[in-house]
Amino acid sequence: MNPTDACGLQYDGEASGGLLGPEFRAAAGLPVINVAGCPPHPDWITETLAMLAHGRLRAEHLDDFGRPRFFADQLVHHGCPRNEYYEFKASAEKHSDQGCLMEHLGCKGTQAHADCNQRLWNGEGSCLRGGYACIRCTEPGFEEPGHAFEATPKVAGIPIGLPADMPKAWFIALAALSKSATPSRVRENATADHQLRAPSVKRSKK
Ligand code: SF4
Repeated sequence: MNPTDACGLQYDGEASGGLLGPEFRAAAGLPVINVAGCPPHPDWITETLAMLAHGRLRAEHLDDFGRPRFFADQLVHHGCPRNEYYEFKASAEKHSDQGCLMEHLGCKGTQAHADCNQRLWNGEGSCLRGGYACIRCTEPGFEEPGHAFEATPKVAGIPIGLPADMPKAWFIALAALSKSATPSRVRENATADHQLRAPSVKRSKK
């Protein structure tokens, strides 16, 4: 539903065009710069403005959707503290759990271009660190996913939204292998709201 025909300045969702048209260039020769996010990280705005003020932001520094690549060449998944759970497909079952939020709770951090888990908010936070799944808010069309934000749509038990760059068959094979090798520590901690088991200490043989 878009009763007011609202659109972006140079994109309408993923479609190039928008209000100004795909050929628009500003006086400095740049297309519209999309500092994406809901909301965008304050650093993304100030860094973009600083680069512009110093004449250091050029067209090659923008990605396919006009987002500055200094933040859009990363994924939210990079640096997420739940990565060990992701590796073993040890999933959270409710929001207070420590496990990965992809399988059951709608996390799209493996598809969202942003450095939220490396450039923390207020120096210490991110959606994932606050217990919320990434809703992919730096991507076009995120606002109408076609399902509840906190749900993971699946077909035959396989999440529809697979990680960027990963073929579906690989994901299925790797997920099955990972689940079969999940350490009990990781499995138990994934569905708890605090650490139940610490990593074991191994002594070197001398
Ligand atoms: S919760 Fe999301 S961002 Fe974090 S490891 Fe899982 S899939 Fe990646």
